[in-house]
Amino acid sequence: MKYAILGDVHANLAALDAVLEAVDAAGVDRIVQVGDVVGYGSSPAECIERMRERQALVVKGNHDAACTGELDPRTFNDAARAAVDYTRARLGPEDLRWLARLPYTAATEHCSVTHGTLDAPELFEYIQRPEDGDGSFEALRHPVCFLGHTHRPVSLMRLADAPHRTSYTFAERLELSETVGALVNVGSVGQPRDDDPRAAWALFDAEARTVEIKRLDYDIEEEADRIVRAGLPKILADRLFLGI
Ligand code: ZN
Repeated sequence: MKYAILGDVHANLAALDAVLEAVDAAGVDRIVQVGDVVGYGSSPAECIERMRERQALVVKGNHDAACTGELDPRTFNDAARAAVDYTRARLGPEDLRWLARLPYTAATEHCSVTHGTLDAPELFEYIQRPEDGDGSFEALRHPVCFLGHTHRPVSLMRLADAPHRTSYTFAERLELSETVGALVNVGSVGQPRDDDPRAAWALFDAEARTVEIKRLDYDIEEEADRIVRAGLPKILADRLFLGI
């Protein structure tokens, strides 16, 4: 069983379509998305449509929750708040219901999925330091949990030979056979923030027990133009070229 794990999409259709093309070429059985399908970008309805067409397993991100009114967008910065207003105006009732029905966490036979942390997913906390993953490791009932939220790919691991300590790696390939548990942040499809503007996704091979973080170029200009034409803050276009 091969999974494509998609990080934060953020309504970036150019990036999502480029990733889906790579996913198709990789012969994947199932698509999983770690939340934040919408927010920041120009094409929320189209990105929701792609997730529905592909019958992706999707969990709820904080931007998804802000658009349905479950999270107060006053905690967001000005540009993100403007994007919430734009997104709400662009989505019909069916799309809003689809967002509202997304679970905070999900699981398959082989992995767990959340947006921020696994132990308190509705709080949308960020895992930035190894110790931030402690609660998620406690809650982990699968060999691996995939997550997003920071838009920076990194894997936290409990290694088989040091199971009580959290290690981490930025390596693009992870061997789960060497771990007793892993929290893998797959980065972001539509708004990477690790100074690398290329779209990110992960290929998880459940039988081989490997995870590979993939990066690919996409037409940033196309999404940047759409953002500007949509009247969204220009900063949301500019940052895509920098990967910040
Ligand atoms: Zn996000």
